[in-house]
Amino acid sequence: MSDAASSALLDAHLERGQIDGLLTGYSTTFPHLMLSTLFAEHFGIVPSYGHAIQLGGATGFAMAMLAHHVVESGLARNVLVVAGENRLTGQSRDSAVQTLAQVGHPVYEVPLGATIPAYYGLVASRYMHDFGTTEQDFAALAVLMRSHACLHPGAQFREPITEADVLASKAVASPLKLLDCCPVSDGGAAFVVSRDATSPHSVRVLGTAQAHTHQHVSAAPSLTQFGAAASTRAALDSAKRRLADVDYAAIYDSFTITITILLEEIGLAPRGAAGRLAREGHFSRSGPTPLNTHGGLLSYGHCGVGGAMAHLVEAHLQMTGRAGARQAGERHLALLHGDGGVLSSHVSLVLELDWTEGGDGITYQRCGHCAHVWYFRREFCPSCGESSPPRLQSAGTGVLHALTRVFRAPSEALRVHAPYSIGLVDLDEGVRVMAHVRDDARIGDRVRAEYVTFGDRRIPSFCKE
Ligand SMILES: [Zn+2]
Repeated sequence: MSDAASSALLDAHLERGQIDGLLTGYSTTFPHLMLSTLFAEHFGIVPSYGHAIQLGGATGFAMAMLAHHVVESGLARNVLVVAGENRLTGQSRDSAVQTLAQVGHPVYEVPLGATIPAYYGLVASRYMHDFGTTEQDFAALAVLMRSHACLHPGAQFREPITEADVLASKAVASPLKLLDCCPVSDGGAAFVVSRDATSPHSVRVLGTAQAHTHQHVSAAPSLTQFGAAASTRAALDSAKRRLADVDYAAIYDSFTITITILLEEIGLAPRGAAGRLAREGHFSRSGPTPLNTHGGLLSYGHCGVGGAMAHLVEAHLQMTGRAGARQAGERHLALLHGDGGVLSSHVSLVLELDWTEGGDGITYQRCGHCAHVWYFRREFCPSCGESSPPRLQSAGTGVLHALTRVFRAPSEALRVHAPYSIGLVDLDEGVRVMAHVRDDARIGDRVRAEYVTFGDRRIPSFCKE
């Protein structure tokens, strides 16, 4: 946990003394009544707000959501969110299975010898019955996650697998086999949620929501419709975005059935089609909606609360163009969804960024009331005063309106870049933006935005279309 927290502070350009909020999850191998203050003392921070949260697999995103609202309310300025445990080496395998099975009912379910895979096996059997999903369809998701993990040096499993490997793997709780299940892992994850952007690599929490339909699988209102659709719809509504705007997905994948259901209930795949879309490359790095490009719980690993937090870390890296060999082009709007228990607790997050916040994108605003459009971010419409106007992502194309060449840079750090060209571009959406311009573009040319590193920033640089 300390290693992850130190890395998060470094990435956020913050010192320990600047952290005034702390949220932690729970640990099955190191249970403690007061994990947040225990960690604060150990790590050497003195927060003015802090506590631990328990929401099963949804805990990491629930902490991100709470941290967002804590900084928005002014309770704290910089909230450190951290979790981790040695689930693999800190206990025996039987102990891990038994501990996790306790999300079942202690009187009516656990005595039957049910395990977590068994709870999900029940869900999978009904899902296959209703939608015609096959074991091979489930396998396609496991293969996809492994293909992504192959490129992550920190992934637990990096050997490529095939659908045949998944189908031939050891039965765990039918129809789920070993490779349909996430492993038990050691690990940790951390991030900082701040009131203001503190580093050039910040992304913005744009929308959040939760839905909780049941605790026990026996009490679930449906085995095909959980709270995922309601939760993501509410998060997108609060972000004033549509599902079609999402260009990166981080979806909980404790089992292949979990990610299949979540993708299909949320609407990122039609019912019964998640496996086929995975096979066709829809969720690959070069596809329209890259999914869990670190390998997910299924192959990157599942260390408990930190497991889903790794999904958020990867979304952050992708959006800020720092995923290295795994980079999936430019990603501006991410949908994150986690579930806890047996698809019982749902938490959704919508993250967005533009170049002013460290990402590769240009956002503008359009008033829903008077249709006025403008560029500089405001919490109100400068034409009619309407509050909370939505932010929209520009396609990054337009016409070059004016151009200058800078020979004398403003600082020592930027002098190495001189000379460089700055232009005003009239974007097709109807707003004028200032940006860099490639040497061969002239006034009146159609231009398109690319993103380059300038000093310690990512900035838009337009080239001829
Ligand atoms: Zn207006």
